[in-house]
Amino acid sequence: MELKLYDTLTREKRLFRPLDPNNVRIYVCGPTVYDFAHIGNARPVIVFDVLFRLLRHLYGADHVTYVRNITDVDDKINARAAEEYPDLPLNEAIRKVTEQTDKQFHEDVAALGALPPTVEPRATEHIAEMRILIERLVASGNAYVAEDNVLFSVPSMPDYGKLSKRPLDEMIAGARVDVAPYKRDPMDFVLWKPSKPGEPAWPSPAGIKAPGRPGWHIECSAMSWKHLGETFDIHGGGIDLVFPHHENEIAQSRCVFHTPVMANFWMHNGFLQVEGEKMSKSLGNFVTIHDLLKDWPGEVIRLAMLQTHYRQPINWTVSGLREAQKTLDHWYGLTADTMPGYLCADAIEALADDLNTPKALAALHELRGEAAKGARPAAACLKASARLIGLLQQTPAQWSAFRPASLAVDESKVVGLIEARNAARRVKNFKESDRIRDELAKMGVVLKDTKDGTTWEIAR
Ligand code: AMP
Ligand code: ZN
Repeated sequence: MELKLYDTLTREKRLFRPLDPNNVRIYVCGPTVYDFAHIGNARPVIVFDVLFRLLRHLYGADHVTYVRNITDVDDKINARAAEEYPDLPLNEAIRKVTEQTDKQFHEDVAALGALPPTVEPRATEHIAEMRILIERLVASGNAYVAEDNVLFSVPSMPDYGKLSKRPLDEMIAGARVDVAPYKRDPMDFVLWKPSKPGEPAWPSPAGIKAPGRPGWHIECSAMSWKHLGETFDIHGGGIDLVFPHHENEIAQSRCVFHTPVMANFWMHNGFLQVEGEKMSKSLGNFVTIHDLLKDWPGEVIRLAMLQTHYRQPINWTVSGLREAQKTLDHWYGLTADTMPGYLCADAIEALADDLNTPKALAALHELRGEAAKGARPAAACLKASARLIGLLQQTPAQWSAFRPASLAVDESKVVGLIEARNAARRVKNFKESDRIRDELAKMGVVLKDTKDGTTWEIAR
């Protein structure tokens, strides 16, 4: 099986060959833990989880190392901590914010069916590695100290900018937004900076007396080095990270290690919009994973996400969620009494073609068609193949027990009515049993009579 992946750096789909097939190494930029993760943040989590699962399938589960970091030093965290806990010392407030957000993030992504990465390193636990990289960059002339900051000297790297391929004047214009007087070149970026009073602070590198803190980009160079080495196979993240974050990671790592590339493949997921609009708090369309999970099973969110190819922009809609719910209801119904069978070759082939999930799902829909006509092997194949991409992980009972919070009904009343209906049916009083079914329908409850009894669902 040949795996082809699109590489943002070379702008082409290429055959993937791991540096070491016994240890395929992938790094993905993870969340900044200051607030609930939104549905846009869920996209890289789900997309790279599918890639992780595919790599484990192709190379063996023990032969893939997936690193997804946690950014726990950031101005947004400090601001949030001061706002949430004005009476606590800043350091304590920060710890509370990062701990809560971190816990919430892990609950959210577990519910989306994402496997835990092999390593989840935190920035604050890799300050020593960051200092080593910074020292080396200063020693090699790729970085300099100015007013207790350490800056990366962009002109010191002749082929800076290859990933984003932005015209130089555009990058300079972008950089001018934040030009400190001590920068030698407007494009130079911060590796280390002095901490403001009360902010987290560590001993500074490069002979700087005042304690300080790292800039953002250096953490990923440090953590990928520590956990994956100087060069590794795949680096991923959202498309918004290409510039400046990934461009700067490349500059740091390549200049320290004198390597031609930092990672052999750069993969970026497209952006997510909500009902056709950019998601923002001010527009009131800011959707957190946490809130979505109250109304939709994680697998519905996952399937809705995978309907679009990861590189395309995605329009997140309630109708897409409804569609995914219907599909999964049908799949669960068809595969309830089936053991997983062979994997669907068409689906695997589609995934191996730059993670073409819409095409893989189309193959599963075909299997569904056959399974609906009674073909047991098709149902078994559907189950195995859906599981490979993190779907159909629940028992049918777990699946049908899900209740959307915003459409809550009085459960004991529903159960009582179902019992009354069954009693009416037993004495063949179908007029009464139909009346009860209609009453339930008015409450938004849909009944399903199976050989094991009556189950119910909330109509959406
Ligand atoms: P952040 O916490 O903002 O650094 O983002 C964490 C991850 O989510 C990064 O890989 C971002 O590129 C990605 N991301 C953030 N917003 C969106 C969005 N609207 N659509 C897709 N990916 C996003
Ligand atoms: Zn990063």
